[in-house]
Amino acid sequence: MEEISRAEQRRKKRQKRKRIKKGIQISFCILLFATVGIICFLAYRHNAPKPYVIGLDPGHGGEDVGAVGYIEEIELTEKTVDFLEERLKKDGRFQVVRSRKNGEAVDITQRKKILLRKEVDLILSIHGNSDPTGTARGFECYPAPPGRENHAISYDLALCITEQMAAAGNHLRGIQGIRYGYYVTGEGGESQKVIKEASDTTIYAQPSFGMVEGVSCAAVLAEQCFVTNLEDVEAFGSDTGCAIAAEAYYKAICSYLQIEEMPLQ
Ligand SMILES: [Zn+2]
Repeated sequence: MEEISRAEQRRKKRQKRKRIKKGIQISFCILLFATVGIICFLAYRHNAPKPYVIGLDPGHGGEDVGAVGYIEEIELTEKTVDFLEERLKKDGRFQVVRSRKNGEAVDITQRKKILLRKEVDLILSIHGNSDPTGTARGFECYPAPPGRENHAISYDLALCITEQMAAAGNHLRGIQGIRYGYYVTGEGGESQKVIKEASDTTIYAQPSFGMVEGVSCAAVLAEQCFVTNLEDVEAFGSDTGCAIAAEAYYKAICSYLQIEEMPLQ
């Protein structure tokens, strides 16, 4: 009997050793797979192309609805940025940074800070124009003016935008839709907006629009259409119009970055 019980004990011990050995082998395999997985993931992350960081600024915000005509300017700015953000995200090569959420009131200094903190590759600020007679129509945009460190790249971006806007059927105002804006202090101390054509390459010390001034990346402020002109609003301020404009901005961004457009699915 004693013989049998000893043999049984030895058998149990052998089985226990086997189980421990198997457990060690399984743990080792899991550890090996996890290590290989982590190394592959890190290598992929390292080799994956960095996304382009696009700063989008829907003009105005909160109580400040901008110009009022057939629509409020803010409807156009937020809608267009929504469409453009969606398009850029679908493309997959872009990271979008918005200067504010829809409905949020954030002043221009803060909006610019939000974009610059994320080291955006370019800034596009969307606005709608207005005119008391209701007759003015079309598109114009304002790159950082001459004398600024980001002038040349901003002008390049403006060229890409106007080309795509014209292709989308928008009327380009002035000389090919590119102008410079400055704030000039009047005799009474009031700030007045002065507009110059792109052919005027004089370096003015007066500040330009906040979103294009004091930044090193390409920065353009776009006046998409006139909210005071019904035809304009229907073409580039309605839901469909904002989507058309957003597609034109998307193509312009691709063209500026010299990358292929991704076709819409
Ligand atoms: Zn505006």
